Amino acid sequence: MQKLPLIMIALILSLSVLLSACEAAGSNKENGTKESTAATTATTAATTAATTTGEPTGEPTSEPTGEPTGEPTGEPTGESTKEPSQTTHTHTFGMWVTSGDPTCQRTGLKERSCSCGIWESEVLPKIAHNYVQGICTMCQQKDPNVFIPDHGSGEANLVGTDDPSWNYTAQAGYLYYTVGNRIYKMNTEKEQVELAYTASYGTVLCLNVVGDWMYFHCASDTPDPSYIAKVRTDGSGFERLVTLLSASEVLVVQNTVYYTAIGEDWSYEDYGSMFSLYSISVNGGAPKKLHEGFVSDLNADATNLYFLHTNEEGDITVCKMKHGESAATKLLQDREVLNLDLEGSRLYFFVANHEDLFDPIIFASISTSGGEYRSYFEANCDPLVLYVIKDKAYYIAFDPLEEDEWLPDEYRLIEYDIDEDTGKVLCVDEYGIEVASIFDRLLCQVIDYESETVDAWIYDPVTGESREIELF
Ligand SMILES: [Zn+2]
Ligand SMILES: [Zn+2]
Repeated sequence: MQKLPLIMIALILSLSVLLSACEAAGSNKENGTKESTAATTATTAATTAATTTGEPTGEPTSEPTGEPTGEPTGEPTGESTKEPSQTTHTHTFGMWVTSGDPTCQRTGLKERSCSCGIWESEVLPKIAHNYVQGICTMCQQKDPNVFIPDHGSGEANLVGTDDPSWNYTAQAGYLYYTVGNRIYKMNTEKEQVELAYTASYGTVLCLNVVGDWMYFHCASDTPDPSYIAKVRTDGSGFERLVTLLSASEVLVVQNTVYYTAIGEDWSYEDYGSMFSLYSISVNGGAPKKLHEGFVSDLNADATNLYFLHTNEEGDITVCKMKHGESAATKLLQDREVLNLDLEGSRLYFFVANHEDLFDPIIFASISTSGGEYRSYFEANCDPLVLYVIKDKAYYIAFDPLEEDEWLPDEYRLIEYDIDEDTGKVLCVDEYGIEVASIFDRLLCQVIDYESETVDAWIYDPVTGESREIELF
């Protein structure tokens, strides 16, 4: 019974000796706790090791071991000589234990301790991404040094958009669109939306995609200039091609950027310089003025550019210009042509009556060589857009339009079958329907004012099927 207290006393004594030894060892170092002292020592040693082994400075984290040489004492040399008489405890650290594995996203941590209770920890640097075909197998991040095209070989657009004044286009399995100063792209199979590029100011318009590059007009609302630029479909390689006052349309055809813009010498009196036609190489350089304004409704195939020219008297001409040349051929004159759209080997348009705006408009076409004028139907409406996809024409009718009665109650998206000569209403909305041609399909949007959301869907003219998509 008496032995126990003795053992206890002996134990307490030996413990206090140990503790005081440790404290003495700790107090050897100036300022701070034991832990921070040990950590500082380890860091200093690690830095020294890194420096002496010739590691490049600025990349100490690339040293994976970080094992300080001269451990495990942790005694700074020189210090012990100050108080040589001091009872010393030499830290004896155990094995490093990893308490957090490093990944390519975050650092890890390893720790070890001495029997005296001092812990030492060391940050384990992030490990490198494991890129396979430009994508990290661990975090799925893109290799910033590798460009991955959105299209396969042979899938690149010849012409960058079906509508050079609008904000939507497509290539291979992707839909590209702009919202404010941002360009988004959607993998339409997976319905995955990605932010592709953000302009530092202005509004991004007239989106084109040809191969690896997106082209656009940035309309400035600040003292900074408006410009036309290109950027890769992953947002890299931004290059400003031309600065300008204002562009109306941009159409990229292979290596040429066609655009209509107000000339630098623009004034209200000088109608002829308004939205003239220019071209510039996709690699930049000096722009070429191809045709005096007012030029609009740019369309192109592999050989030619087609457009409308309106003179100061308001006379409209359908023109054709061979790529690489600047002489225009007149395909059709003396008709009030609206909404020119190329499909296959024909140019489709509406013809209005110049004398009486309330006369019906006529849907008509000519061949790309200028002949074979055909008219299809008359409509009592104000057509807002016209897209022809294969044998179907799509337009939005602001209906009805009558001389003594203005009833702009509804917008109707009409599908007209050119071969069958039949029409049907695809969609009706009292506030408006936004339609964009994305080559072989239509992108339609209607704002739902009750829920303050946008209903968007892709319509396939061949199957007649609609597929809802989430653009935002
Ligand atoms: Zn210790
Ligand atoms: Zn990674």
